[in-house]
Amino acid sequence: MTKWVYSFGDGLNEGRAEMRNLLGGKGANLAEMAANGLPVPPGFTITTEVCSAFYENGRKYPDDLRAQVADALARVEKSMGLRFGDAAAPLLVSVRSGARVSMPGMMDTVLNLGLNDETVEGLARSSGDARFAWDSYRRFIQMYGSVVMGVPHHHFEDVLEQFKRASKVEDDTAITAEQWRTIVADYRHLISTHAGTEFPTDPQDQLWGAIGAVFGSWMNPRANTYRRLHEIPASWGTAVNVQSMVFGNMGEDCATGVCFTRDPSTGENIFYGEYLINAQGEDVVAGIRTPQPMACARAEAGQHPMETTLPQAYAELMRVRSVLETHYKDMQDIEFTVQRNVLYILQTRSGKRTAAAALKIAIDMAREGLITQEDAIRRVPASSLDQLLHPTLDPKAERVQLTRGLPASPGAAAGAVVFSAEECEARAAKGEDVILVRIETSPEDVHGMHAARGVLTTRGGMTSHAAVVARGMGRVCVAGAGSIHVDYAAGTMTIGTHTIAQGEWITLDGGTGAVYLGRVPTIAPTLSDDFNTLMGWADSVRRLGVRANAETPDDAATARRFGAEGIGLARTEHMFFGPDRIGLVRQMIIADDELVRQKAIAGLLPFQRDDFASLFRIMAGLPVTVRLLDPPLHEFLPHAEAEMVEVAQALGKSVEEVRARCAALAETNPMLGHRGCRLGLTSPEIYAMQVRALIQAAVIVEKELGKPIRPEIMIPLVATQAELATTRRAAEDEIARVLKEEGTNLNYYIGTMIELPRAAIQADRIAEYADFFSFGTNDLTQTTFGLSRDDAGSFLPYYVDNGLLPRDPFVSIDRDGVGALVRLGVERGRQTSPDLKLGICGEHGGDPDSIAFFEEVGLDYVSCSPFRVPVARLAAAQAALATRSKVGNPA
Ligand code: PEP
Ligand code: MG
Repeated sequence: MTKWVYSFGDGLNEGRAEMRNLLGGKGANLAEMAANGLPVPPGFTITTEVCSAFYENGRKYPDDLRAQVADALARVEKSMGLRFGDAAAPLLVSVRSGARVSMPGMMDTVLNLGLNDETVEGLARSSGDARFAWDSYRRFIQMYGSVVMGVPHHHFEDVLEQFKRASKVEDDTAITAEQWRTIVADYRHLISTHAGTEFPTDPQDQLWGAIGAVFGSWMNPRANTYRRLHEIPASWGTAVNVQSMVFGNMGEDCATGVCFTRDPSTGENIFYGEYLINAQGEDVVAGIRTPQPMACARAEAGQHPMETTLPQAYAELMRVRSVLETHYKDMQDIEFTVQRNVLYILQTRSGKRTAAAALKIAIDMAREGLITQEDAIRRVPASSLDQLLHPTLDPKAERVQLTRGLPASPGAAAGAVVFSAEECEARAAKGEDVILVRIETSPEDVHGMHAARGVLTTRGGMTSHAAVVARGMGRVCVAGAGSIHVDYAAGTMTIGTHTIAQGEWITLDGGTGAVYLGRVPTIAPTLSDDFNTLMGWADSVRRLGVRANAETPDDAATARRFGAEGIGLARTEHMFFGPDRIGLVRQMIIADDELVRQKAIAGLLPFQRDDFASLFRIMAGLPVTVRLLDPPLHEFLPHAEAEMVEVAQALGKSVEEVRARCAALAETNPMLGHRGCRLGLTSPEIYAMQVRALIQAAVIVEKELGKPIRPEIMIPLVATQAELATTRRAAEDEIARVLKEEGTNLNYYIGTMIELPRAAIQADRIAEYADFFSFGTNDLTQTTFGLSRDDAGSFLPYYVDNGLLPRDPFVSIDRDGVGALVRLGVERGRQTSPDLKLGICGEHGGDPDSIAFFEEVGLDYVSCSPFRVPVARLAAAQAALATRSKVGNPA
């Protein structure tokens, strides 16, 4: 018999934390906490396998599930001394989803299940509080009606608002038991008219309805979107947790809250969170009432921290905090309820955190001895470092502050205001910077939040949906800015006298919660000591070198600051566009008179020499790989009339002649045309000039700095051995001439890009003429897939959305195809030259998943854009640790 149901609490704990795949994160942690003696209300978990079976069998449950649920429920009844559906002493339960990885806000929850017209009276008697009982009942009907029976939530709000207006009651807490009874009747009427069926009064029907709703919601569009964004397979399924209710809304000695064992924004080791007295579960996250802080240290004047209002439960919570951190060795996000001064823990999970917090927590925990340095390296997601490198507001910049909300997710962002996720996505797709402004967000808004630069809400706290989701995504977020009035219909937001319409700009500071009018300039971040510490730890374990793709002095300096160990790719064509050079470049291309042409090329030489000398100075002896001219010549051709005239005058030609020459140079398929070494072979004087400039610059800077300079000359788009052999020979001849003229010697290397499938296949032969290879995975992906780098945007998203490709192969390396060619190139290249230096300089060099692959195949270094250098250093360290643990050779 398959075991579909696992009990937890009150001495029978059938699950453990390791069983997360079967029990989901929530179920596994409830079992683990209960097994460790923490106060967890008893309950049971229906496994994720039931979810999978449910979908495999046309939405039918396994035959023996009902019997197993009945047994587990009987156990809960026994341990609580209550009976499910009993009119005198009814057991009430919560029903919640719980997938393998946490999916905030994606799945639905039903509380107070088991109430009906009879049991509500039992609850009133046993609690001694009829008002509480009827309030609980109406909450249940409201939740069940919307989650299970599909009646939109706002209809219930409307009924309640109408009642309050008619009865002249302002606050929910002033509504009496009798009045709730009337509202309950109204709610039930609403359900029967809207859903076409009656609200179920049999607790068993309620229970199975809720279980079905949880499983059903696994496949709802919101969950599907979330899974797609986070690459979670649909086959994992969700578990269902059924747990005895405890009540935070039974009076002033009751509360409910959400807390983090450390600050999830900064990582500080301070107990952090929010709670509400006399409230139930979702009230804290829903943002209907303003939650209060946990600790006195975090309270401002007029606030009521839990430390003073419920000292006994707070002390117990502090004990739980330390037990959980020591046990899980990670920062925890805890949901709790206090019922009559007794603390219950309803959930614990690894807390979502900002990149800054992840970094600080990892470093602190390693220093506290809770985890090892290697754990700390593994803990910080490499791609999250991007967030730390994000700009902040320029402190000197003038600004007009509109208002302030909660600093929910750090960074600074400016953009055009939009009020719907759809508009946000549409504008972002056109390249516009947008700020999504909502009263509060819900899972329906997740796609818009993803597309936005920042998110601003007028309601909700630091654990509200907007705050949690934005933090996880690394989006700037200011939450709960209550002084803003949003009018969706008018498409405006108003703060005092300012009214801002859709499309107008605002700026958010997610670090302070401030909202500013217009666009405030930002500055690059300064990196914390923790950042440098982690980078140091990462550098001590990584094997892969990390270089940068840079050709301007600014980029090269940034790369050095971020720890690049050299330049892996300087694209010389980028140096040709300067206003002082482009004229000469055009003359070089268009001239048919050889002398004029040589003169233009000679004119370019000093520019190139200066460019290369700057790079050598900044890199001060580190390797600098300079790639000879690659792109098709037409990219440099004049387009505008004025440009044509200018070139014509310089060359003493007519504009018509220039236009005709331009037309002749145009290619149908330039990416596969006259570019790379093909250009170097047919116009050898261009490469000769570049090589001459490079060697002269190296000689100058070597003398200047008094230490060896390491120029690496890289030949692009090689497909055959002959191409490389010929180009190399020409370069060597030129180098010999320059060195003879200079009367000196210099160590240099000549290598090639491997960026065409043929080059990878012929790597053994090509290696005979190469001191190094650098895999150009951009072109290699383009040519392996036959997929244009410039045109793929129109259909690649479709491929990814529809599962035809797991990810965009220009972002993350296609291991099976392009990766196989890289592996082949490595093997064959090293067959010929065991010491061949191997690198990669395509965009994949900064992508953590691709870096793991490059570690596996044994490259020597990766080269990426300067801002990705820290990401690459950490990813390389993580990849090295993963490889070591795979081969059983711990560091
Ligand atoms: C490549 O093709 O991967 C590469 C680095 O060169 P480029 O992007 O300049 O074509
Ligand atoms: Mg290329």
